[in-house]
Amino acid sequence: MKLFRELTQRLSIVYPTGEAKALARWVMEEHFGLSMTDLMMDKDNNLSSHQLQDLENITERLLHKEPIQYILGHTLFCGLDIEVRPGVLIPRPETAELVEWICQDYEAECRPDTRVLDMGTGSGCIALSLAHRGFHTEACDISTDALDIAESNAKRLGLNIRFFQKDILQDDAESDQGFVQYDAIVSNPPYICQHEAAEMEANVLEHEPHLALFVPDDDPLLFYRHIAQFAKSHLTSNGRLYFEINRSYGQEIREMLSNMGFCNITLQDDQYGNTRMVRATTTSPNN
Ligand code: GLN
Repeated sequence: MKLFRELTQRLSIVYPTGEAKALARWVMEEHFGLSMTDLMMDKDNNLSSHQLQDLENITERLLHKEPIQYILGHTLFCGLDIEVRPGVLIPRPETAELVEWICQDYEAECRPDTRVLDMGTGSGCIALSLAHRGFHTEACDISTDALDIAESNAKRLGLNIRFFQKDILQDDAESDQGFVQYDAIVSNPPYICQHEAAEMEANVLEHEPHLALFVPDDDPLLFYRHIAQFAKSHLTSNGRLYFEINRSYGQEIREMLSNMGFCNITLQDDQYGNTRMVRATTTSPNN
């Protein structure tokens, strides 16, 4: 218990007590394989000098507010162990809710040929979870770093996903024409406005990729507009579009999608009661 207590105490300098304790437990459990019971039996006193050095390095990085998921190199998302490194966003619980929403919608009808595209895949968390649940999944990102991490995740988890590089903001009609039609398109694009940076935690602001987080203050729907435009020509006639969104822009996104001809636009709250997701369907030819 001694090392665990010391670690909690050191972390309390920069984190609130509850969080310091949770981080200390996470390190002990995940990295050193020591459960709470092990700690109560003082098994943390048996760490080797190499492990103690390791613990010191981890502690230093945590004191610099580096996210623990980057330090340990992985995190759990929808029951899958996902590798994360600086260069990709750390998967959030809200995004797991978006995946659940999609899975529920397709529960009855998900066939192995239900085609889904994840745009701006990052670590691949959405695509990996959907492929794991039986969707025929493709995913793209502008960042080759992200694509490397997502591909290595898919390989390690034994999931078959086609990855390709694409800049969402580049409406390249010609090269897009050869693309298949999808039953669903999903995206958690950058959606934090520049002015919101002032209220953000240092662990996010100083360590996570700004490319994946921020949109200009004067165009908060930038990515949604381009993805929806792409979806107009790449979704099947009864296809669905799913977005994770900035809680402040639900109505604006609804209006934009409606103006673009999407139907059945539904906003959905996350577990914290914030408007966090939207689903829309393409106009059916019979409508
Ligand atoms: N939900 C993330 C956050 O709060 C942001 C994700 C995004 O911009 N797509 O940090």
